[in-house]
Amino acid sequence: LVDVDEVVQEAVDLMLTLAEGKHMSFRVSAAEGLYVYGDGSMLVTALTNLLTNAIAYSPEDTRITVVARRLEDVVEISVSDQGRGISPEDQERVFERFYRVDAARSRATGGTGLGLAIVKHICANHGGEVTLWSREGHGSTFTIRLPRAQVESDGVDPSTSLVAVQPGAKE
Ligand code: ATP
Ligand code: MG
Repeated sequence: LVDVDEVVQEAVDLMLTLAEGKHMSFRVSAAEGLYVYGDGSMLVTALTNLLTNAIAYSPEDTRITVVARRLEDVVEISVSDQGRGISPEDQERVFERFYRVDAARSRATGGTGLGLAIVKHICANHGGEVTLWSREGHGSTFTIRLPRAQVESDGVDPSTSLVAVQPGAKE
């Protein structure tokens, strides 16, 4: 059982120094009591890949917003930036391995074009998906959606211990 709030905090903490180097700030909003099944360190990797991109492909003095919230039986984690954005044609391709927009210009930012392919892979392994919304010149939002793990404390006092309900079991 993975605590989504912990995953978000850990990923953001890992990226603070890199963001500070570009005078970028984070705004983080993560609901407590949200859980998913899976591998916490893999999910941290997925988020740090998205955050690395948000930092790399945005100008200085911009903000990155991370929101984790519950939508029915889904946990949604979104990473939004105020960067260069991605054209509709490229939006269809950026999750492919080794695909980089304008490879010549992005050579300065290093990268092999694997980051988003890894994010997609990790999400699929967790029974979820990653989607992209972007407007060129304005910014991008990557959204990870994962099945929410139900815990016995759902709807009761959050101070009681958390016990996972069997996946697939009726409520
Ligand atoms: P790597 O992550 O392997 O170091 P990379 O960042 O180039 O290299 P991906 O993370 O897979 O590879 O991203 C693919 C391409 O999508 C990037 O090269 C960039 O052109 C574009 N891209 C990804 N994230 C963003 C973003 N937040 N804003 C604008 N463009 C982006
Ligand atoms: Mg990347």
